Amino acid sequence: MGIAVTSTTACAEIIAIGTELTCGSKLDTNSQWLSRELESLGWTVMRHTTLADDLDLIIEELQAAAERSQAVLITGGLGPTLDDLTREAMAAAFHQPLVRDAESLQRIEAMFAARGRPMPARNVVQADRPEQAAAIRNDWGTAPGILLQVPATAENSGCLLAAMPGVPAEMRPMFEHLVRPHLLDSGIQMCRRVIRTFGYGESEAERLLDGLTARGRNPEVGITASEAVISLWITARATTEETARQMCEETEQQIRQRLGVAVFGDGDLELHDVTAGLLQQQHETVALLEGTTTGGQLAMWLTETPDSDSVLHEALVLPAWDNLDVLEHWPQHVQDLMTGYFRSHPCHWVLLSSPIEDQQAAAGVSVRRGMVALATAIELETADVSMSGNLAIFRQRAARTALNLLRRRLLAART
Ligand code: ATP
Repeated sequence: MGIAVTSTTACAEIIAIGTELTCGSKLDTNSQWLSRELESLGWTVMRHTTLADDLDLIIEELQAAAERSQAVLITGGLGPTLDDLTREAMAAAFHQPLVRDAESLQRIEAMFAARGRPMPARNVVQADRPEQAAAIRNDWGTAPGILLQVPATAENSGCLLAAMPGVPAEMRPMFEHLVRPHLLDSGIQMCRRVIRTFGYGESEAERLLDGLTARGRNPEVGITASEAVISLWITARATTEETARQMCEETEQQIRQRLGVAVFGDGDLELHDVTAGLLQQQHETVALLEGTTTGGQLAMWLTETPDSDSVLHEALVLPAWDNLDVLEHWPQHVQDLMTGYFRSHPCHWVLLSSPIEDQQAAAGVSVRRGMVALATAIELETADVSMSGNLAIFRQRAARTALNLLRRRLLAART
């Protein structure tokens, strides 16, 4: 069985079947795993559907999915019990009788014999498949999978459906060995890059990227925000690997031009690793004096990086630094502190954070106030990191704001 895909998008979808999934008792991890596999083969996964063990519902969804997509992966519902309905639903959806696959039956019988157990009568149904389908051998359990090619019509280019067991330990090897080979020729090569930025909110980044994030654009640019870092996911699809790579690179350049110094790295690089790397390259050191605004977050991150002793002069957390005047007169306070500090500490930079002050703002919203600062022996730069919400997020954002002050100064010194 094979697939003919002509457009630059090879659409796939995944259907997870099982009432244990829809009622919330089990988590559908199969769809996540299969999506990654499909994406790596150039398929665009357009939909995940989770269905209860209901025959009509499954039939309806299989028909709709085969109309929309060129590949549909199904997991679950291949067991021997009455609520395992995938076989029956596939046969009914594509108007075929169920037939008993002799080879599958032999294998199921042999599997029970090998375990020294009699085969329950009900298990024979696991050898059933729609007449025009092929059984997929299951070397990891009893339930064979089902592979069914639905022919093209005037409206669509046909669809390959593969049903696999729900148990992940059976589904994964079955996909890798026996289903994946049928999906290799998606006709599409995909190139993906992730660019990491700090300093803009999601909406601001989208405004600056105007046009690049438009729906339907190829390469596609997606924006995700996590712990105050904005990641831009570039996905280029083309018929050759080289073209996809070039398209990805062009879009990456455009993004870098528009967002400038806000881009700090790619892949899964962290802001503290980049900053520590710059300090290392420039043979400079930083001291950390943290109030409760960052509460040791900077020290934790910078001590995680390899050879942190070469960049970290000292790290102090100052929980008792609780005089609220510190926050009110932050620049002056830091300046006074630094005059003495640099005399006795031979380091190049000091990153500081203030104590936290919680304040009630209008409409019952509470705001957590905090400041960070970057000092040298002669200069001081401060940033207000006040925000409402969760303490852990507040701290991470504050610590990244402080690191970013340092990163930008280190970059400027290089040019
Ligand atoms: P079997 O032949 O082993 O009965 P099956 O195809 O009938 O396989 P199900 O009975 O639907 O599969 O599910 C068996 C078990 O597999 C579930 O209890 C659950 O633990 C796991 N499972 C099913 N579907 C998923 C899924 N989408 N993601 C993760 N685990 C799943």
